[in-house]
Amino acid sequence: MVFPLLALTVAPDRLSVVPELTQDTVRRAGAAPETNEPVGNAPNQLRTIVLDAGHGGKDPGTHGRYAKEKTINLDLILQLGRKIKANHPNIRIIYTRSSDQFVDLYERGAIANRNRADLFISIHCNASPSSSRVYGTETYTLGLHRTQSNLDVARRENAVILQEKNYQQTYKGFNPNSPLATIMLANYQHAFMASSIDFAQKVERSFQRNADRRSNGVKQAGFIVLWKTTMPSILIETGYLTNPAEELYLKSDRGQEQMASAIYKAFAQYKEEIETAN
Ligand SMILES: [Zn+2]
Repeated sequence: MVFPLLALTVAPDRLSVVPELTQDTVRRAGAAPETNEPVGNAPNQLRTIVLDAGHGGKDPGTHGRYAKEKTINLDLILQLGRKIKANHPNIRIIYTRSSDQFVDLYERGAIANRNRADLFISIHCNASPSSSRVYGTETYTLGLHRTQSNLDVARRENAVILQEKNYQQTYKGFNPNSPLATIMLANYQHAFMASSIDFAQKVERSFQRNADRRSNGVKQAGFIVLWKTTMPSILIETGYLTNPAEELYLKSDRGQEQMASAIYKAFAQYKEEIETAN
């Protein structure tokens, strides 16, 4: 499938990197919601949220000296879900995984689309191969990376597709290392970019205020997991497992409670604002 924007601006020999929708992807993305819609029909009401713990199963993600990313991601996402449920019992919460299992990247976004989610939150941990001194939080929305390090983060998070069974068909022609692929990624999320950035800023501010974290800010890069989501979507890098102090913090009960609480507070503020907006 050729996308008009690229057809106008890209030489034919470069089009091989354009991702194509497979039959399966189309069918899944267009399928009916898996469960009944919750009650309430106010136009701006936030009804359904999809919580995505990055990695899982055979894909451990990154690691520190002893902590595995997949485990911290799951602990944080479950805590966040419990806080949302406790304070907003009418919100439908859907987890892309609630145990240590492998879920394809494209399927995570497809779950959100099938269930007509109003918000998608993916939680991850970062790593710096060059220095154990690098630390801090970063929240990403889908878009063009402005720095090499942002691109490196997306490449690392995207690399898991190579472990998926049918990745050559699922992501036909998609090359995560291509700048052009990132442009394609950004087009899908365009309609939700302002809301995604707004929510991402709230999360980063909340990390500073409520968890005393160093915020490295809101950034953009081409994450496959956010690629085709049809709602505001963010990916949170909660800290660097390659930094010993941050690894200790993210592994600790206190650290996890603070981080989940900080994300929850940002969520509550975002929800309040969109529901009271005209
Ligand atoms: Zn990750």
